[in-house]
Amino acid sequence: MTEVLASAPAAEPSAAMAPARRSLVGLTRPGLGEALTAIGVPDREIRMRTGQLWQWIYFHGVRDFDRMLNIAKPLRQRLADAYTLDRPEVIVQQVSTDGTRKWLLRMPPVDARDKGAEIECVYIPESDRGTLCVSSQVGCTLTCTFCHTGTQKLVRNLSTQEIVQQLVVARDMIGDFPGLTPPTDGLIPSGEGVRAVSNIVFMGMGEPLYNLDNVGNAIDILSDGDGLSLSKRRITVSTSGVVPQIGELGDRAGTMLAISLHAVRDDLRNTLVPLNKKYPIQELLEACRNYPGLSNARRITFEYVMLKGVNDSPADARELVRLLKGIPAKINLIPFNPWPGTAYECSDWETIEHFSDIVFNAGYASPVRTPRGRDILAACGQLKSETEKVRARARMMDA
Ligand code: SAH
Ligand code: SF4
Repeated sequence: MTEVLASAPAAEPSAAMAPARRSLVGLTRPGLGEALTAIGVPDREIRMRTGQLWQWIYFHGVRDFDRMLNIAKPLRQRLADAYTLDRPEVIVQQVSTDGTRKWLLRMPPVDARDKGAEIECVYIPESDRGTLCVSSQVGCTLTCTFCHTGTQKLVRNLSTQEIVQQLVVARDMIGDFPGLTPPTDGLIPSGEGVRAVSNIVFMGMGEPLYNLDNVGNAIDILSDGDGLSLSKRRITVSTSGVVPQIGELGDRAGTMLAISLHAVRDDLRNTLVPLNKKYPIQELLEACRNYPGLSNARRITFEYVMLKGVNDSPADARELVRLLKGIPAKINLIPFNPWPGTAYECSDWETIEHFSDIVFNAGYASPVRTPRGRDILAACGQLKSETEKVRARARMMDA
């Protein structure tokens, strides 16, 4: 099901389109402090006021300054005169038959020339958890040959605010803030202590380790116990292997790590994940061995996309097991999700099962990731591919 919720922006942005008032949603504590200072709140009050804003924005999810009842009316008015609590606009919502939701979001313009970045973000409900797949960049500079995002050129890094706003929008859309009502389709996990969004994976568009400052700040906000309160053990950052930043991610953010391995020989990985020419497999695995906080309770996930006749032989499976020896690891086999124009095909089911058995018999959990939301092109590596078509269709319907 596709719902078009907003119209396309004007083709040529004008100065008048740049927002006069900035949204506070997605700012760090120092960012909120600066916003308060800018409207004349005295230094001695900044800490307390920041704490209040923080709770209203990130814990309660309010969209109106007037709901901030422990802030006196005159200050609420000054805040409303200078700022908003706006979220990015949800232009299109698509709901898959399996309950997966994909949202096309338009970020507010950053300056008079910017039309406002458009990104996609995917929500995957399961019985015991709800996972939000967020983007860290608009497009990607890397050119992994099996990934549709890789065929689209990088537009820019997302800011901390834009990364955090993806979770805020998701919580709005599925009624996951106090006082909101969740959709009653029975697909959203609920119950005592269950959050509709309980896990975050940085597996949307972009390479998160090329935007580590903003990703790190965003993780601080997502995991803050006074606000959005996601446990760091439920936040996973996936990288194609930016070796120098892997240790830094562990030190700075302390999240779970996933590595897009996809091949066990350098010659093949050089083709599939061209970044491998810079950081070959052995260097990558060395960085994994040294990942801060690594233990049997905090394993690294190795992602392996199953490409027919390319990387799916029993010999590949045995080599994979050999390579990972000594690293606390989980192996996640991902059936290849096709996209228009790709030359790759997904491995046959029997081949995937055989591969998975070899990995399992070597002592690794080897779940095969069930493709979710394929009917709405929300599965791994498909993001942004169909969006332009959906928008074009929507425009035709409008006309
Ligand atoms: N840039 C990061 C995170 C985003 S991609 C990274 O590469 O890790 C998230 C996962 O989806 C990665 O493991 C990626 O290799 C995988 N992927 C990309 N395209 C895919 C496709 N068409 N089918 C299945 N998985 C894909
Ligand atoms: Fe970029 Fe990841 Fe896609 Fe490679 S797989 S092109 S790193 S988004």
